[in-house]
Amino acid sequence: MQTAVVPRAYPRFIFKGLHAYGLLSPYGFLYGIIDFLKQVSGFDSSQDMVLNVMGHDDSGGKLTFEKKTNKVLFKPPHDRLLSRKTEALNKIAKKLGGVLYVPRYRSLSVHLLGGCVAAPDISSGVCNPEGQVFDASSPIGGVHRGLYICDASVIPCSVGINPCLTITAAAEYISRNLIRDLMKDIVYVEKRNLSNKQPCSVFKVMKNYSESKVRFTEIMRGKLGGKQCVARLIVNLNIVNKDTQKKSHTQLQGKVSGYIECKSIEMERMHIIYGWVDLCETKARTPYTQYMNYRLLLAASSGARYEFEGRKIMNPYLLGVYAWRESTTLMVTLKKISSNRPGNDLVHHSGKLHISLFELLKSLWSMKGESKYKFMYLLMQSLFRTYCLQVPRGSHHALFDAKESTQKPYPHSAMHDLITGDGVKIRIQHWECISFPGELKLQRKRHPVLLVNGYSTESYCLPTEPTDLVRTLLNDGHDVWLLHGRCHWSIASNDFSIEDIGRFDIPAATAKMNEFYGGSIKFHLIGHCIGGLSCHIALMGGYVSTKQIASLTCSNGSMFYKLTKSTMVKLWLPLLPISMMVLGENTVLPMLRESPTSFRHKLMKQIARLIPRYERCTCDECEVASGIFGNAFWHENVSPDMHHWMNMTNLPELPMSGFRHLRKICNAGFVVDSDGTNCYLMHPERMAFPTLYVSGGRTLLVTPETSFLAQKYMKTHQPSFRHERVVVDGYGHSDLWIGEKSAEKVFPHVRKHIRLAEEEEEEEESVSKSGNEGMNEALSWSHDPYEEDDEDEGYESVSDAEWRFVMVDLRNHGKSAEFVKDLPPPHDLEASANDLANLITSERWKWPDIVVGHSLGGKVALQFAQSCVNEWLGTNIRKVEEDHYAWSFNLDGALQMFNSY
Ligand SMILES: [Zn+2]
Repeated sequence: MQTAVVPRAYPRFIFKGLHAYGLLSPYGFLYGIIDFLKQVSGFDSSQDMVLNVMGHDDSGGKLTFEKKTNKVLFKPPHDRLLSRKTEALNKIAKKLGGVLYVPRYRSLSVHLLGGCVAAPDISSGVCNPEGQVFDASSPIGGVHRGLYICDASVIPCSVGINPCLTITAAAEYISRNLIRDLMKDIVYVEKRNLSNKQPCSVFKVMKNYSESKVRFTEIMRGKLGGKQCVARLIVNLNIVNKDTQKKSHTQLQGKVSGYIECKSIEMERMHIIYGWVDLCETKARTPYTQYMNYRLLLAASSGARYEFEGRKIMNPYLLGVYAWRESTTLMVTLKKISSNRPGNDLVHHSGKLHISLFELLKSLWSMKGESKYKFMYLLMQSLFRTYCLQVPRGSHHALFDAKESTQKPYPHSAMHDLITGDGVKIRIQHWECISFPGELKLQRKRHPVLLVNGYSTESYCLPTEPTDLVRTLLNDGHDVWLLHGRCHWSIASNDFSIEDIGRFDIPAATAKMNEFYGGSIKFHLIGHCIGGLSCHIALMGGYVSTKQIASLTCSNGSMFYKLTKSTMVKLWLPLLPISMMVLGENTVLPMLRESPTSFRHKLMKQIARLIPRYERCTCDECEVASGIFGNAFWHENVSPDMHHWMNMTNLPELPMSGFRHLRKICNAGFVVDSDGTNCYLMHPERMAFPTLYVSGGRTLLVTPETSFLAQKYMKTHQPSFRHERVVVDGYGHSDLWIGEKSAEKVFPHVRKHIRLAEEEEEEEESVSKSGNEGMNEALSWSHDPYEEDDEDEGYESVSDAEWRFVMVDLRNHGKSAEFVKDLPPPHDLEASANDLANLITSERWKWPDIVVGHSLGGKVALQFAQSCVNEWLGTNIRKVEEDHYAWSFNLDGALQMFNSY
């Protein structure tokens, strides 16, 4: 530290500063008072003089923090010249006839240097020469990522002269390193987005930053990972970019700065260090859809880096009814970028952010820049094209490159003809697992797998794809059997219900497998959509013995079947009766363009085209199919080859007669027989095996509630078996199986489930059954964490949930006895349990996950739990009207259930 002098004003506060400053002359104190009085009275102005001696100390000062006392301690550096300086100054003071005030112990400094000095390692300094702060907890040389020191404090010793330029040089040197470090992250984010054709490199963006012509601020609010989140984005558009040909499009791309605030993730604001927005992105697979993409790299004060991906998806659904909602809702995923290994994302949050009408108007109002009207015009034009004109941007056919069988030949299979119990001829395809040397390790042969398809379309055996479920299971060492039931297009029968598949087709398949292996064997059952429904009919109806089932896997179908609102509307409209009328009873609708079509078929196809759906397609067959079913998959998940195969080969014709029964099931929300009678749901005892229910997280046709309810039902009724549920992010319906990335996103869950089921079985065989000690989970009434809720409440990630405890004084107890009068008798357990329910509803809480009680309280808790499980779905407290709950009890159902036991 450099030596300096007492600041000019110091003597005025001499009374406060006496402990720090010594007086060399015994009269100094008196002089101080006289001088002070002179100034106060205005009699004479102060005659202070500043004396300055430059020099430098040995840089040995130390600042330490004492944990015990919470004190910061300072050991001043030794100044060898202090005494000589004082001596010289004193002489000058004497000559001038004044009094010298100097620091008693040390020199002062006006050029403060050091404090966080740079050093080769942590033993001698705080940061390395690059300004990165050492991390005491990490191995030698480890630093806190993103934390830099970039000022005078890194300079380790006094430089003896004015250090202004030295500080500047050090700061510039460190900044260069800081930028290099930052670029690494940006390049990493860019690399990940390379598939999305990131239009230009960061360096260009930075260089052209000043050329932006439109600037506005967007404030979005919503929930991220279930917690409140605010995003303030400053958008700069129209950065000149020569790489892109379309001029209008470049106007809708730009740079984003600002910050995101989400206290549950980071206490302080996460600042955007790199942000790119594209307000009109299109994808070749979804030519009708417009995307608005926000890709941001966030830096938090903790040193963590986050990758933020926001997307608005705009589909021209039904003249743009969702236009407002879609264009103001940003679907967000936030990933923490691992500091050590990029690509290994640690934390993953998802949520939605909205911009309110007020905020939108405000940001339009605040828009600045010379080309803002042009920008608004272009934005409106792109939205008009998407929602009103509904003109596709490109075509699906252009994507498909008809490369000829470069792939390996499909594994050999045998086709067996079967006659079902009611005399219908169906078929089953069988792949035998050829064990290769690696498989010899398997000590026991693995159980075969029976696959049941969804409505008429093939989901498991996909010759165009590099892999599919059939080949995956074969590689895992399973025999695979694929049922071509009566709703398969190749089977002539077109007078059937879903029930028939469960009642006759699956038992016939089981019989064939038993015959093939010689005896009653165990197998894994996998069903998709109505395949899942028919599996449940077969099992809960008792048509297939429970003992034969090793495990059950169902995707978007279970004993429950909950449809999306738009699909329900489609069902509710008399579309099916009309189509039946148009086609004539029990007619098959030819789907392929080449097939000869009658007038009725043409009419039917035209009707189908008019029906609204989420995603439109430039492919004619796809349009008809999605008009009838609704979209079965998200186009972006399905490869062009697969799309082509789906529409050209997979579904040449569509049998319509199964829809009648399907409609009854959809209306009930669970499996019923072909007359609409509820005769399956009361047989949970027939479901004694592990289950896995899979749903798509980006709902199409069937909602995730289907798997949620199924898992609850199984956990309640078969607690001694493993029951799992998976919601696959970004997937809809059949893309779960036919998607380009199904093999990495969906199949692993199925393979794990099957493997665990076989391991559990082996364990069970080795350890003789020891009672009913299964998983005894606490009854929970929590919301489905995957539920897509349009209202703001409800979406809460389980991992983020915090516990809240509510202590209740029961009726006639404690404070309740004191203050609550006139509670209607009888004062019994049931009434007390009812009080609990009333309390929860009146306070608008969520239903409790756990109810704990002691003694009488325990009895009440039991009563409460019992009332809740008596009904099959988990609770018999039902919403009757908005905000009004009542206890309801399906007496008929309970009676049926009772009788069936
Ligand atoms: Zn399509």
